[in-house]
Amino acid sequence: MEAVEDIVIVGAGIAGLTTALGLHRLGLRSLVVEASDGLRTTGFAFLTWTNAWRALDAVGIGEPLRQQHNQLSRRGHEFRCVQRRTLLETLVNELPSGTVRYSSKVVSIEESGYSKLVHLSDGSSLKAKVLIGCDGVNSAVTKWLGFKKPAFVGRFSIRGSAYYEHGHGFEPEYFRYNAEGVRLGAIACDEKSIYWFFTFSSSSKNEEMEESPAKTKQFMLSKLGNIPDNVRAIIEKTEPANIILSPLRFRHPWEILLGNISKTNVCIAGDAFHPVTPDIG
Ligand SMILES: Cc1cc2nc3c(=O)[nH]c(=O)nc-3n(C[C@H](O)[C@H](O)[C@H](O)COP(=O)(O)OP(=O)(O)OC[C@H]3O[C@@H](n4cnc5c(N)ncnc54)[C@H](O)[C@@H]3O)c2cc1C
Repeated sequence: MEAVEDIVIVGAGIAGLTTALGLHRLGLRSLVVEASDGLRTTGFAFLTWTNAWRALDAVGIGEPLRQQHNQLSRRGHEFRCVQRRTLLETLVNELPSGTVRYSSKVVSIEESGYSKLVHLSDGSSLKAKVLIGCDGVNSAVTKWLGFKKPAFVGRFSIRGSAYYEHGHGFEPEYFRYNAEGVRLGAIACDEKSIYWFFTFSSSSKNEEMEESPAKTKQFMLSKLGNIPDNVRAIIEKTEPANIILSPLRFRHPWEILLGNISKTNVCIAGDAFHPVTPDIG
C-alpha cells in the first residue's frame, strides 16, 4: 500500500527546496522527492538581483547568504553571485530532517479519487493530496498538465568556475564581453572563486563538446578574440571538470497563458513552469 502525504514536491532544486521552506515557515509539512542521490548543484553559481534577495529574505535565509557573498557594484540593486551549492545546502539545512527523499524519481502520475498517485522509479508510490512540480526544464508534472517540451532557442551556454587557492585579486565587478555570436560574463563569487558563463549560437547539438569539457574549453579560447589577458586566464585556469555545456530552452509566454499551470490539486513552479534563457531571467 502507498504512503499518504499531504504535500508532495517533485524536485529538490532551488524551486522545490524554497517551496518546501516557504510551506515550513507557514507550519505546513511537505515531502520533497528528488531523482538524484544527493543535492544537484549543476551550474556552479548564479547572479542574483534585488528580487531574488526579497524571496530569500521571505523564507528567512537572506542574511546568512549575504554574509557569504559579496555585494557587487550595480547602482540601486542588490547584486551578488551566489554559489549554488551554498544556496541549496542553506535551504535544506533549514528544513526538518527527512523532508527530502533522494533517489526517488517520479516516473508517472495517476488520478486516485481527489488525490494523485505518484509512482517512483524504485517501484514505490505516494498518495499526494497536493502535488507541486518543481522538477525543472524536463518536468514530468508539466508534461502531465499537458505542456509540450520547452523550445530550444538555438544557443548554448557554457558555465564554469575557476578556483584560486591564494585568492584571485579581481575587483568585485561584473565583466562582460560580446563578440560575433558569443558572449562572455565573469564575476567573483568570493575571494577565491570566479564564476563565468559563455553563450554561443549553434543550431545543432555538438556531441563532441558535450562529451569532452576539454574540447569545450579549447572552443571557447578560440572564440575569445581580443579580451584582456587576465580574463582569458580565468578560462585557462578553469579545470575541465568545472565546465558544463547546456542547450538553452524556454517556454513561449502564450503557452503559459493558454495552458493549465494548475489543475485540481497539481501545480508547477520554477523552471518546470517558466524556463527562460539567462538574459531574460
Ligand atoms: C545557462 C543558465 C544560466 C542561468 N543563470 C542564472 C542566473 O544568473 N540567475 C538566476 O536567477 N537564474 C539563472 N538561471 C536560471 C536558474 O538556473 C534556474 O531557473 C533554476 O536553477 C531552476 O531551478 P528549479 O529548481 O526550477 O529547477 P532545477 O534546478 O532544474 O531542479 C529540478 C530538480 O528536479 C529534479 N528532478 C527532475 N526530474 C525529476 C523527477 N522526474 N523526479 C524527481 N526529481 C526530478 C532534478 O534532479 C533537479 O534536482 C540560469 C539558467 C541557465 C540554463
